[in-house]
Amino acid sequence: RIASLAIVGRPNVGKSTLFNRLAGKPLAMVDDRPGVTRDRREARGRLGDLELRLVDTAGYEDKETGIEVRMRQQTEIALAEADVCLFLIDGREGVTALDQRFGELLRRASKPVILLVNKAEGKQGDEGILEAWNLGLGEPIPISAAHGEGMGDLYQAIRAAL
Ligand code: GDP
Ligand code: MG
Repeated sequence: RIASLAIVGRPNVGKSTLFNRLAGKPLAMVDDRPGVTRDRREARGRLGDLELRLVDTAGYEDKETGIEVRMRQQTEIALAEADVCLFLIDGREGVTALDQRFGELLRRASKPVILLVNKAEGKQGDEGILEAWNLGLGEPIPISAAHGEGMGDLYQAIRAAL
């Protein structure tokens, strides 16, 4: 069976970098719902023996509409289709106000959420990891999407959430 993952979080936390790391061949852009899914990318991927269907959300990075509105739309669509939600924050920046509002949205979601503290290569995400506990989404998992660190822990978390 294929595990469907939605990758969500505010702009610049590394969603697309993680998507690209996990993705094999990119699938076509999904543009059947103009204005909402335009910037959404989907791909098949693999992590260990897990077959993945990945959805990278990005529509709320469009500055024309209020970021919060688009963030909610994109996240709700991605969550509706996903088995598991990967919520990224930037371990170097720590938890921002926008991360907190995302966290609230995700705490109310009916899907399992895996909290990923990205950009944590070396010890650079340590403070961010401690702060991330405050989001109330369980154990934060340090990763580096850019360098491929923490992928074994991510695998185990996905397994446990399925
Ligand atoms: P998105 O807006 O959430 O999709 O974020 P991107 O994937 O576009 O990444 C935003 C920036 O963070 C880019 O400059 C990436 O190179 C950088 N980045 C992503 N992942 C990592 C990481 O694990 N470590 C570091 N140091 N930088 C990262
Ligand atoms: Mg992106």
